[in-house]
Amino acid sequence: MGYDPKQCINSVQIRPSTHMGPMKKFKALFVHPSALMSSKVFLRLEPIGCELVAAACKAAGYDVRLLDLQIFSHKDYFRILDEWKPDAIGFSLNYLPNVPEVVDLAKETKRKMPGVFFFVGGHSASFVAKDILNHAEGAIDCVVRGEGEGVAPRVLEAAADDRKRVHELPGVVSLDGEGPHAEMVKSIDDLHPARELTSKRKSYFIGVLDPAASVEFTRGCPWDCVFCSAWTFYGRSYRKRSPESAAEEMARIKEPGVFLVDDVCFIEPEHGFAIGRELEKRNVKKEYYLETRGDVLLRNKEVFKYWRKLGLEYMFLGLEAIDDEGLKANRKRTTAGKNLEALEFTRKEGITVALNIIADPSWDKAKFAAVREWSLSVPEIVSISVNTPYPGTESWLTESREFSTRDYRLFDVQHAVMPTKMSLEEFYRELVNTQKAMTMKYMGWRAALDATSIAAKLLMRGQTNFVKMLFKFDSVYNAERQIAEHREPVKYEMSMPQRMTGKVDRSKLYIHPQELVKLQPQG
Ligand code: SF4
Repeated sequence: MGYDPKQCINSVQIRPSTHMGPMKKFKALFVHPSALMSSKVFLRLEPIGCELVAAACKAAGYDVRLLDLQIFSHKDYFRILDEWKPDAIGFSLNYLPNVPEVVDLAKETKRKMPGVFFFVGGHSASFVAKDILNHAEGAIDCVVRGEGEGVAPRVLEAAADDRKRVHELPGVVSLDGEGPHAEMVKSIDDLHPARELTSKRKSYFIGVLDPAASVEFTRGCPWDCVFCSAWTFYGRSYRKRSPESAAEEMARIKEPGVFLVDDVCFIEPEHGFAIGRELEKRNVKKEYYLETRGDVLLRNKEVFKYWRKLGLEYMFLGLEAIDDEGLKANRKRTTAGKNLEALEFTRKEGITVALNIIADPSWDKAKFAAVREWSLSVPEIVSISVNTPYPGTESWLTESREFSTRDYRLFDVQHAVMPTKMSLEEFYRELVNTQKAMTMKYMGWRAALDATSIAAKLLMRGQTNFVKMLFKFDSVYNAERQIAEHREPVKYEMSMPQRMTGKVDRSKLYIHPQELVKLQPQG
């Protein structure tokens, strides 16, 4: 079955828009904000969220364009405004550190084009919607909470016809009020990203998978780790795409590499097998990078072995801690022993694995040294992030320590937002040295094995993202610069959480409330 763009949204009836006369289509520009610190080094993913929402609006008859500020500059953005003159501008705001950038751009945009409708959606925006509206002082017309594909065309319709009533739509918040709960799309089968709207597609990569497209097979996560907002956003639901729909989309992808954006891949092995069989039928051959959990991997070894044959090369395992105590604190619901067993399995299968460890501000030199030593003793690629409670996570409400900053830009899991046990200077030196040791080890053994040949091959194909990444680590991860960033003036201050002791009322965390979500059993 071919793709029918009109099928793109099915939770919300698309009503014919009264403003779209034969002469002029309402024009909407969708924008992804600039890259974060880690995105400057390890990955630059295609803005799939923006592409999905843009596709829904295009299917509803709007004239749509997309600009990715990970690749293009603010100057390019304002040039498009001058030349194309959109009627509406929608920013995706999935990461807190981008809040100041988006608010500033909204203000500058409204100064230049007072009549334009400026709206914001996305993961982080959903959790701090009211704060964003307050920071923008009227420059942002509304924030869309929850999934955007269903409601975005209706937001554009309201933008054209009756802006004052936009807040009556599901999930929409404006300075005038707030609509009913966000609605979920009934099926993720019919969502197809508008890839034709992204230019310079060869700029998207993840590690050595260069270039790489992003694809979604499932949405949501049934686990409930305290530091994560993937489950709170979707009301702890988990939805699967039909194997046919997933394979149809894969068959249309031109890039040789594919990053599966699912939070936890192949929770249900039969789903993974079914997609694989559909891909084989269509003779789709790609290299894959996916993310999963160690316990899922051990439980469903056969499906991962099957995908290895299909082209699974790289995997991200959210380890988070190397001991049971750390795993328990993060409520990972698994053990260090299981994680090590999972690593043995991936080594045997020849899958290259990347791991992340969460450093806590309370760490001292000895703890960093132990993690460094461990990371050097395993062949996997290990990276380190900093424990950062943020809005939407359970730890945002339960963390008993005070925050040492209210600067959105520092909530990027690479900065310490709570007081450090060592001096801040010592903490960053240890952090950067650890990250550097981990990266050098990776580059060392990869170089000995095949990084040079991979780099040479990529250069031959004209792909320089990965090669550039190898050389710019020092300019991005730099203790002095990170310390200096703590001293920068803060223009927009984050609201601090109302602390809770005891059991957290989860219903208060959900963007898509559970009563509106059909839960599927954990695999
Ligand atoms: S960290 Fe992974 S497993 Fe845990 S809730 Fe988030 S997405 Fe799910």
